[in-house]
Amino acid sequence: MAEYDKLLDIKNLRVEYHSGGKVVHAVNGLDLSIGEGQTLGFVGETGAGKTSTALSVLRILPQPLSRITSGSIVYKGKDLLLESDKSMRQIRGKEIAMIFQDPMTSLDPVKKVSEQIEEMIRLHEKNLSRKEAHERAFEMLETVGIDRRRGNDYPHQFSGGMKQRVVIAIALSCSPALLIADEPTTALDVTIQAQVLELMKELKEKHRMSMIMITHDLGIVAEICDQVAIMYAGKVVEYGTVREIYKNTAHPYTHALFDSIPSLTEDQEELKVIGGFTPDPTNIPTGCAFHPRCPYATEECSKREPEETKLSPTHSVKCFRYKQGGGKEQ
Ligand code: SF4
Repeated sequence: MAEYDKLLDIKNLRVEYHSGGKVVHAVNGLDLSIGEGQTLGFVGETGAGKTSTALSVLRILPQPLSRITSGSIVYKGKDLLLESDKSMRQIRGKEIAMIFQDPMTSLDPVKKVSEQIEEMIRLHEKNLSRKEAHERAFEMLETVGIDRRRGNDYPHQFSGGMKQRVVIAIALSCSPALLIADEPTTALDVTIQAQVLELMKELKEKHRMSMIMITHDLGIVAEICDQVAIMYAGKVVEYGTVREIYKNTAHPYTHALFDSIPSLTEDQEELKVIGGFTPDPTNIPTGCAFHPRCPYATEECSKREPEETKLSPTHSVKCFRYKQGGGKEQ
């Protein structure tokens, strides 16, 4: 049995950005947890607060614009929001690593790729000699399927997919317990996406890591994840295993996300879209934030916020249509 049932446990996280006299409510009471060895898909439209949550875990939110106004982020029993800056520097990269969306902006254009991997290893693995760290950097390149002879090349000499492999090599170089991948394949073309996903899946198994996969692509979730958290307006509105989310979809927003996937078997003249707009984060609707777009909204939905309802030990939803243990109310 794992030492920590919940490797990461986020409770009631609230994140705001202050800009131009306005307050942007990016994360609004988010609860989320991930166990050891699990892969969690973190799904939602742009602006749902996914990246702000990830940046909060690593405490790298842009300053001085952002503020974490409440909540706790407990990793291996420690609340990261209470840790010192020094302790966070040791956790970032070593315990929790992150892969960003665009590999172009994650790499230093004037350093050889092997040096960039080596830098991370030397920062965290103080017991390794310079020579050992150097060798480990080249081994990491091979692990992600890049010939070690390319280690002396610069980022501009690599294609987009190869650059993302280098970024993955940097992220995995110190064997983190948790990897946060923020839309790691969005900037890549479809065939390269599949290769990079396959590689991440393999490496996750090999290194026995937990992973949070931030995405808006439900295909990626089906491919790689064990659990799924559906996020809307800075909150998780449905949480379950991949099977539960795909087979027993509960929240109307999750239904709408599935409906908007183009069908491969039917002729569709028009793609289905989710009506309305994502809420203005400076003015989140009262009650259930999805009510202006929800076909089932009642008066109650605009006044009160739904509590979490457990549909099974692993499946929960925030919607008035459900009662504990399954069945719909209406
Ligand atoms: Fe729709 Fe109401 Fe459920 Fe919100 S609580 S998703 S508005 S039915």
